[in-house]
Amino acid sequence: MRGLIIAIDGPVGSGKSSTARRVAELLGYTYLDSGAMYRAVALKALRQGIPFDAAAQLEALAAETRIDLLAGESGQRVLLDGADVTAEIRTPKVSQFTSKISVQAGLRVHLVAEQRRVGAAGGVVMEGRDIGTAVFPHADLKIFLDASVEVRAQRRLAEHTARGEKITLEQMMGEVHERDARDTDREASPLVRAADAVLVDNTAMDVEETARLVVMLAREKAESRV
Ligand code: C5P
Repeated sequence: MRGLIIAIDGPVGSGKSSTARRVAELLGYTYLDSGAMYRAVALKALRQGIPFDAAAQLEALAAETRIDLLAGESGQRVLLDGADVTAEIRTPKVSQFTSKISVQAGLRVHLVAEQRRVGAAGGVVMEGRDIGTAVFPHADLKIFLDASVEVRAQRRLAEHTARGEKITLEQMMGEVHERDARDTDREASPLVRAADAVLVDNTAMDVEETARLVVMLAREKAESRV
């Protein structure tokens, strides 16, 4: 029997990436970070000076761009047209620009097609904003992760501080609010909880607890299919 398609969506700092990566590890599934794909296209657009609202140019850019997500010992590596951009796509500037270009439906079509290609065979944990609503509306298990905005901003702040970037909690809260609002209010595949997604609030849970809860739900799903 094919493995499940597990969709994990949620706002900034809800723990999607670390949870999805751990769930994939526990189940022996493929992990796909869809946000990294949007970030890679955003970085390329920034480098080429393409404005965030140039719909046709952004769509063409997404169509001609090659993105590879490689699983490595020390975490995921992201290659943009063959070059490693793992660290560069995580700066606050790229984060904000990514959410600005992600409102463009034309650009999304190309990335969604690639996400579907990777996930079609099952045995995949894919995380993002629209996985359970647009990419795989028939996913076997949908999780909507959330946490209080304070905790989400603290998590992001810790990531940036660890990389030596100087940013205050207030600035981080502002960034989180701004990006969540853009992702939620856009017309094309907005961030919204699918009606059949399980809501998991992990404000008071760590990654391991969250991942084990998801794995438990996945095993229940797998058993109910036989
Ligand atoms: O998850 P991450 O923070 O890396 O995503 C970066 C941005 O990419 C999000 O703020 C959102 O605008 C966009 N995104 C999206 N759809 C996805 C994943 C990410 O629009 N499935």
